[in-house]
Amino acid sequence: MKHAQLFLAGILAACSPSEKASSADAVQASAAPNPATSAEAPASGPQLTFPVACVVGQTCEVQNYVDHDPGPGAKDFRCGTNTYDGHGGIDIRIHDMAAQRAGVAVLAAAPGRVARLRDGVADVSVRTTGAAAVSGAECGNGVVVDHGDGWETQYCHLAKGSLKIAVGEQVAAGQPLANIGLSGNTEYPHAHITVRHNSAMVDPFAPALAPAACDVGTGGRGMWRPQAADAMAYKTGAVLNAGFADAPVSMDAIEAGGITAPTTASPMLVAYVRAINLHGGDVQELTIVGPDGRPVATGGQPPLDRAKAQYMTFVGKRATGAAWPKGEYRATYVVRRGSETAVSRTFSVRLGD
Ligand SMILES: [Zn+2]
Repeated sequence: MKHAQLFLAGILAACSPSEKASSADAVQASAAPNPATSAEAPASGPQLTFPVACVVGQTCEVQNYVDHDPGPGAKDFRCGTNTYDGHGGIDIRIHDMAAQRAGVAVLAAAPGRVARLRDGVADVSVRTTGAAAVSGAECGNGVVVDHGDGWETQYCHLAKGSLKIAVGEQVAAGQPLANIGLSGNTEYPHAHITVRHNSAMVDPFAPALAPAACDVGTGGRGMWRPQAADAMAYKTGAVLNAGFADAPVSMDAIEAGGITAPTTASPMLVAYVRAINLHGGDVQELTIVGPDGRPVATGGQPPLDRAKAQYMTFVGKRATGAAWPKGEYRATYVVRRGSETAVSRTFSVRLGD
């Protein structure tokens, strides 16, 4: 068995949205017209449970936090880059449209009463329709739960026809409200959640943070119950998707889900990763090692020119023999940030047997 030389000399990359400051702005908008945080530290408010039926690090990630920069820039409560200008909530993102179609429930973060809702907005990417098509309905299908004492939570981009509650209904913490969809101003399936007190947006990770300040000491537990705070421990970059394919992949194919896994007969063996919230200067490496422990394909990438909301890389090799050797193929993805390893993920596929 022999294989052809690397058909990808380096890691091929694509990104959409490519830049935090431009296309990322259009990804999704808060339903709140003005996401400016309240200057006053609010009362303690309800304790919040994790609001999506997913597991962070396995089936979802926090894509965006509240923007604390009062000006044209953007920074999250840690003064990091996991946000974009004017973002007025948190975005919990699931892996792809296949997961969305399978159904992922959005859960009430605290007990309350359903105050308002909207249904009937189509689940279609704003990349397809354009932002004007969802003007005035940026939240898409949404639910607002009133928790009393001026506190409410809002849940956006829900799947059309998936709402499970009615206005006026009492809901318990953790009760399913609807499923994640693709409605409103969004181009990937996620739940946008906004917390408000007396109509002012509150960052649940840092409810008492002064405008433009940073919280780097308390861990951002904010209003979250311990289990939710632990699940959403702050990350400076994360792997959203990782897997093997039998052909080069695209960002759209990863977003759609259902990429074909390789077999011993596949003409190509490809490993791919889509990472989120990378920093400018990050260097990515992706390597496949075969069952014999030898490298099958390896690639590198020059430092990113700026922060990336999402970034796709893959590396692969074309087969020339009759079949790939049976056994386990292991891929290792590493993001180097200066002298540190910022993100790493090892994943494998077994061919044959
Ligand atoms: Zn959002």
